[in-house]
Amino acid sequence: MATTPAPTPAPFDPADAAPLDDGPSPEEIRDPEMVGLDRAITALITVVPFALLFVAASQAWNRSLHWREVIILVALYVPTALGVTVGFHRLLTHRAFKTSPALRGLFAVLGTMAVEGPVINWVADHRKHHIYTDRPGDPHSPHVDHGHGVKGALKGLFHAHVGWLFIHDQRGARERFTRDLIADPVVSFVDKTFILWSLLGLAIPFGLGYLLGGDLDAALAATLWGGAVRIFLLHHVTYSINSLCHFFGRRRFQTGDESRNLAWLAPLSMGEAWHNNHHAFPTSAYHGLGRRELDVSGLTISALEKAGLVWDVQRPSAERMAAKAVAG
Ligand SMILES: [Zn+2]
Ligand SMILES: [Zn+2]
Repeated sequence: MATTPAPTPAPFDPADAAPLDDGPSPEEIRDPEMVGLDRAITALITVVPFALLFVAASQAWNRSLHWREVIILVALYVPTALGVTVGFHRLLTHRAFKTSPALRGLFAVLGTMAVEGPVINWVADHRKHHIYTDRPGDPHSPHVDHGHGVKGALKGLFHAHVGWLFIHDQRGARERFTRDLIADPVVSFVDKTFILWSLLGLAIPFGLGYLLGGDLDAALAATLWGGAVRIFLLHHVTYSINSLCHFFGRRRFQTGDESRNLAWLAPLSMGEAWHNNHHAFPTSAYHGLGRRELDVSGLTISALEKAGLVWDVQRPSAERMAAKAVAG
């Protein structure tokens, strides 16, 4: 007898959820699993690329760095960064546009190659960040419980940048925030096979280096730049959105939080540094909302829309932007 398939849970839209004044309930916080192991892996992923940066710097200093490695670094950085910004963030967290399962899978894989954790955990934490932005319950606010003065500011910035990655008491519960993604077979598969895609992010530069340089030395140098240096750079650009973009920069819109637009970080962050714009209009596919606000992720989404590969692309109207604009 045929069984009726279970209805797909409605996409969770953090923009619609009213923050609770009392802070999050226990069901909203992800149960910490094997905290010790998680911390050890996080430390490894954070510290190893940083340590290898010194090897890379000495290589550049000794002029043994080739254009080949720089090209491989850029060739890996751009698609994996877009995997995080267009894929994890604008598509999967905020449903800012729609696309096919194949492209959803591709973006989820590319984002996973940035080694920022399994995609569904990433989205659960980020949706919780939008509900409790800069209030108790935000997994990574630089402004909650860090004390006053210069010491409090530095403590807050450190927590928002990397410290929170080692703390598990305010993570977003998957069952509460990401039921739509758990029910999505494509995203769920990429989430479960996180390690495979992370390793692919190292295997690709290794293969490219070997192919273009012809020996093991070239393959290892390409893995250093296209793997370790690329992961280090992308990690700290992503972390800077959580730390610097809630601390420094301009506030173009009224948002009731501390989100800011940090123009100099816009190019490397593929437009994510227009973070005040983003908190004002979370479901917008575009974070750059002006002619002079460079947003490579937004341009990518526009190009995909023109090619017919994505549709239902969200953008705030001029009226909505005017209504939220900061006076003066
Ligand atoms: Zn934010
Ligand atoms: Zn967001």
